[in-house]
Amino acid sequence: MAETGASSFSHEAGAVDIRTSPSDGSRTAGRSTMKVPFLDLRVTDEAEKAALLAAVGGVLDHGRIILGPEVAQFEEAIAGEVKRKFAVGVGSGTDAMILALRAIGIGPGDEVITTPLSFIATANAVRIVGAEPVFADIGDDLTLDPASVVPLISDRTRAIVAVHWAGLICNMPALEAIAHEHELLLVEDCAQSFGARRDGRPAGSWGTVSGFSMNSMKGLASLGEAGAVACDDVEFRDRLVSLRYNGLVDREYCHYMGHNGRMDTIQAAMLLERLRRYPDQLARRRDTAAFYDEALADVVTTPQVPEGSEHAYYTYTIRTEARDALKSHLEAHGIECKIQHDPLMPLQPDFVGKYRGHFPIAQEAIKSVLCVPANEKVSDEQRTYVADCVRAFFQ
Ligand SMILES: *Cc1c(COP(=O)(O)O)cnc(C)c1O
Repeated sequence: MAETGASSFSHEAGAVDIRTSPSDGSRTAGRSTMKVPFLDLRVTDEAEKAALLAAVGGVLDHGRIILGPEVAQFEEAIAGEVKRKFAVGVGSGTDAMILALRAIGIGPGDEVITTPLSFIATANAVRIVGAEPVFADIGDDLTLDPASVVPLISDRTRAIVAVHWAGLICNMPALEAIAHEHELLLVEDCAQSFGARRDGRPAGSWGTVSGFSMNSMKGLASLGEAGAVACDDVEFRDRLVSLRYNGLVDREYCHYMGHNGRMDTIQAAMLLERLRRYPDQLARRRDTAAFYDEALADVVTTPQVPEGSEHAYYTYTIRTEARDALKSHLEAHGIECKIQHDPLMPLQPDFVGKYRGHFPIAQEAIKSVLCVPANEKVSDEQRTYVADCVRAFFQ
């Protein structure tokens, strides 16, 4: 996730390579090897490109480059999508999580319980506001297991950060009940889950505050860095607005310790265009996920989606004990794969030995997970090829 450019294969996306693998005595043998990039960040749809350029042109014309009118429109649109009273546009998903935690008063001396399996920004946001992350475990669906949270609650615990990992909403009813019983705040990290639903409720509508990333690799993607925080409480909203620019109130007076996490108008303008196309994009991702579910369920563990959940498929994550060999096999066939997120956050070099936690299931699970290309640009031909290559490996 740290890389910001197109993936390593992206310049060759769509190019057909004539290599064949001599070791592959299966259905794919003799077939030309296709390049399947994990992501291709180029804007290849001409109509979309024209719309994005027009959106940028509008900003160049009015000149309100930071927090301009498109930011306000974007905030209103996001609040509507995620069924919140307010959304505040910020500079990145990392900013969103830092500002969300700061706005609800999380700081030094506080503990925040979260999953071990997320992009490192989740835990770093907790550390940046001066609090300590505590790592619970995950369930079969690879999201935070509510039962594993309870034994970790101490008299310093102030909040739970639920990460809707890979695009699947956590068991929020259970987490809400725990938060209520123990008087904890509940925060959602929705960086990977814009558009996901559970029991009809969208990601971002469950916690006290919710953070989103719209960086260029996320589902709803800007052409750079962007994020948002959503909430229902006007006091939190006002504090977020101040915190995103150095804690200033009325432009002059610093009321809170803050930094610069403002949103660029150009990103908001382009995101408004992308938002229009998002339902089609999400439908295509779900279609490809359904295709893989059908094609692969008998050879690997496919994503476990509970009844009533609508997955946003930020990634399509399969699980197999033969993960490393399968990854090598797929890469040898031109298919770019990713392991998200290894090492687990509490096992990162700057975390080891510093924080409490108990996550044996995550430590096993991280050895078996693999994300295969499943974004909206993956063609019918490419996904058939990916599925054939996975199946060939197991035959
Ligand atoms: C991407 C991501 C973030 C951080 O978002 P940026 O926009 O890259 O700063 C935070 N949490 C999760 C779960 C993410 O995937």
